[in-house]
Amino acid sequence: MPHLLSTIRNQIPLTAYAYRGEEECCNLCGSRDRLTVSRTDRRLKTLKTVACEQCGLIRTDPMPTDAELDAYYAGEYRLDYQFAFSRKPPRFHLTRSQREAEGRLALLAPALEGRRRVLDFGSGSGEFLALAAGAGHDVQGIEPGQSFASFAREKYGVPVESRVWQEVAFEAGRFDVITANHVLEHLREPVSALRRMAEWLAEDGILHVSVPNALGRRRHSFQHFHFAHVYNFTPQSLLWAGLVAGLEPDPRFAQQGTTLVFRKRKAGAAVPVWAEGEGSRVAAHFEPSSPLRFLLSCRWIVDALRRFRKVAGDSWARA
Ligand SMILES: [Zn+2]
Repeated sequence: MPHLLSTIRNQIPLTAYAYRGEEECCNLCGSRDRLTVSRTDRRLKTLKTVACEQCGLIRTDPMPTDAELDAYYAGEYRLDYQFAFSRKPPRFHLTRSQREAEGRLALLAPALEGRRRVLDFGSGSGEFLALAAGAGHDVQGIEPGQSFASFAREKYGVPVESRVWQEVAFEAGRFDVITANHVLEHLREPVSALRRMAEWLAEDGILHVSVPNALGRRRHSFQHFHFAHVYNFTPQSLLWAGLVAGLEPDPRFAQQGTTLVFRKRKAGAAVPVWAEGEGSRVAAHFEPSSPLRFLLSCRWIVDALRRFRKVAGDSWARA
């Protein structure tokens, strides 16, 4: 019953989420100095988001605890975020996931010659694993969401560890290719997760990371933020996160915004030096805008209809 009450409360605009959280320092540089960039999220609910003054990494403040995030994922996350009313992934999600997996496999082709050992960190419903297995690679997934992990195992016959990454123990150097697609922004310790992935990577392996770009174009600054995204990256802070985790960009792949392909950092290569004023530059991107004015403008109805049309289109695609 407490879950149901918090689920209902979390659907009401202009109110706060049912969470207390805790004060955290920046997971990238350790600084506690921060600038507020937004007090609202894309559901028009109260949610304070800050940018680290030193490195510009954006985070929710206060940070939800593991227990609070678990409660959110167990309750309204699938409904709120993915329109999923049953435990099976909805059709529009599978269409999008398939499309994304095809693009990811094509992007990583230079590192996928021969039979490679591939890990998908946050493998979701398993479309990338299925494609990579079909191309002859040895695949492994990690997916903490039980229903999506079961779906991947049953539909595609791919191996998926259904646990949080801290509980997974692979030996060092186990994988040639690791991908983490739209995962880091959900983690309370994204840099520690990158460090762990770097350990699992073979000496000549690659690590592909893609996250939403917090500096991407949105009509209102609050439309970037979501309760499940506890960290938000810029191209610069994602690059620094990789460097801190012992990685460097692989020169075969150009950085595309917040999509980066790393390799293990060679001895003596540059380590990050924070650019002075980075936090202020990031914060300046988020101009204050009024969620109440947005609500009264009825513009949100147009946005909701557009979103519904996309969902409907992807639901009926490839029927
Ligand atoms: Zn920082």
